[in-house]
Amino acid sequence: MDAYVVIGNPIAHSKSPEIHAQFAAQTGQQLSYERLLAPLHGFKASVQVFQRRGGRGANVTVPFKLEAHALADTLSERARLAGAVNTLKFEDGRIHGDNTDGAGLVTDITVNAGLALGGRRILLLGAGGASRGALLPLLEQQPAELVIVNRTQAKAAELAAQFAEYGPVKSAAYAELDGAFDLIVNATSASLSDDLPPLPTSVYGAETLAYDMMYGRQPTVFMQSAQQHGAIARDGLGMLVEQAAEAFLIWRGVRPDTSDVFAALRRQMAELAE
Ligand code: NDP
Repeated sequence: MDAYVVIGNPIAHSKSPEIHAQFAAQTGQQLSYERLLAPLHGFKASVQVFQRRGGRGANVTVPFKLEAHALADTLSERARLAGAVNTLKFEDGRIHGDNTDGAGLVTDITVNAGLALGGRRILLLGAGGASRGALLPLLEQQPAELVIVNRTQAKAAELAAQFAEYGPVKSAAYAELDGAFDLIVNATSASLSDDLPPLPTSVYGAETLAYDMMYGRQPTVFMQSAQQHGAIARDGLGMLVEQAAEAFLIWRGVRPDTSDVFAALRRQMAELAE
């Protein structure tokens, strides 16, 4: 049976095995998908052992996405630009690296949430790995403007300069933001510590979609604040499921339907919150 893993540290919390088991059942594919805890300094060795045992591919999560980028023999364009890899495919002894996080985000926004991004104003909060991975897929939607803000402003400026050839992207300081955005993506890790990026209230309009990449049992402080200012809020659970579907497509050549898997995960989280 073809074997896949999700590699991270920690890894016990990962929902990827459940998601891929449901994709496999739905598409009638025979495969195994397990969690693999790699030692913090043992990512490369863990991948190589799994590959030698006949593994076909791996998802990569915190904190190994940069190492996975360095380890890959070949890279997709989106992974090369992201500087991070979340999907590895092993073929003929070689490792191909891809990054499906940004595509997962865009599918969740454009298909599941129904917001077409062409000609829209997008605000991207954060300049870390998640933000970097989202930039090319967002710019490919041909927004009117994409503004990056970050606590450490120089990093936002660097990212904007790097991606300028792919679309209308610029950086700004939080205090400089003015006017409503159609989409605000929170790609910071602030929600992990219940922190709120310092956004002026003018960024919210009645139609604004405020998207937090984080997901969990409760709406994040960012989502709560956006709702209080009249925006529509969405968490990153759909992004998680869609990036997995994109990885499944890379490995198996078929893109599973995500709606049932998403609904099941949402139900599971609601039960845990009770
Ligand atoms: P990184 O550590 O690479 O980057 C973190 C970013 O958040 C930096 O830009 C940092 O700013 C900023 N930041 C951290 N704390 C604060 C704060 N208190 N106020 C304002 N800005 C802050 O993290 P990642 O990019 O890998 O991940 C970001 C988030 O995206 C995480 O919550 C992660 O769970 C989520 N994610 C979700 C996925 C999904 O499938 N739904 C997939 C991937 C990520 P500075 O540069 O100044 O330090």
